[in-house]
Amino acid sequence: MIMTQTVELVRDAGGDIASTSPENSPLAIRGLTVTYGEKPAVFSVDMTVEPGKMTAIIGPNGAGKSTLLKSALGIVPPVSGRVQVFGRPLEAMRARIAYVPQRASIDWDFPTRVIDVVMMGLYRELGLLGRIRGHHRTVARDCLDRVGMGDFADRQIGQLSGGQQQRVFLARALAQDADLYLLDEPFAGVDAATEKAIITVLKSLRAAGKTVVVVHHDLATVAEYFDNVFLINTRKVAEGPVAEAFTAETLQAAYGGRLATAQIDQLAAAKV
Ligand code: ADP
Ligand code: MG
Repeated sequence: MIMTQTVELVRDAGGDIASTSPENSPLAIRGLTVTYGEKPAVFSVDMTVEPGKMTAIIGPNGAGKSTLLKSALGIVPPVSGRVQVFGRPLEAMRARIAYVPQRASIDWDFPTRVIDVVMMGLYRELGLLGRIRGHHRTVARDCLDRVGMGDFADRQIGQLSGGQQQRVFLARALAQDADLYLLDEPFAGVDAATEKAIITVLKSLRAAGKTVVVVHHDLATVAEYFDNVFLINTRKVAEGPVAEAFTAETLQAAYGGRLATAQIDQLAAAKV
């Protein structure tokens, strides 16, 4: 059973993560357990996100990656555990977190313009009944420009491709002007141009000192895109800089038989 096999591989990473404490971490999770039924989806997980870095959350399907993010955001209540955001309880810090959910099959039957979707990111600033002013439209358009969707502001969101919609959701997160960005599989099912546009934006956020955490499914691009990794398979498997925590050993522990050994060796060797 998963619960017992990986314990010895759990390492509290060295380097900068070790010097990141719950007080100065953008997201510090302790002893988090989440269940939907009887079986835990996330079990006793500790996570300490390093500020100003890009961290990939990695693990097989059903490993609890989305649940971990949702629970960190208070969307799914945990059975036990504690979440601190910049050293404070989540409730006090929500406005500093932007979240791009795993692309759901949302039916956009209700006509909604792209610019209005982005403007939703400003609701915290506006208040639900606040008046939208020219300034807000300018901010929203600027965010669309940053994701290469400036020309689509007046289109209906339902008419866009999946990749274009994903860019719009990223623009909405940008409009929030948060300090911690959580994205759930933003590259799933998008075209190469969109992937490139998204990673460029994420790197610019990092350059501006923001912290980015991404559930990521493409193991081949982990070393290229990310500073740190967090491997999970219900339990935490490993956490740390890519060079230390993304190894043949940790991949084997997280994926087991789901990845061929040759593939694991290749992935682990590919990083510089
Ligand atoms: P991942 O994102 O790593 O693929 P999830 O966090 O979505 O994994 O799911 C973890 C486990 O919890 C899976 O076994 C999944 O079937 C289960 N699960 C996820 N969401 C729900 C839900 N709303 N109700 C019941 N079970 C769920
Ligand atoms: Mg998921």
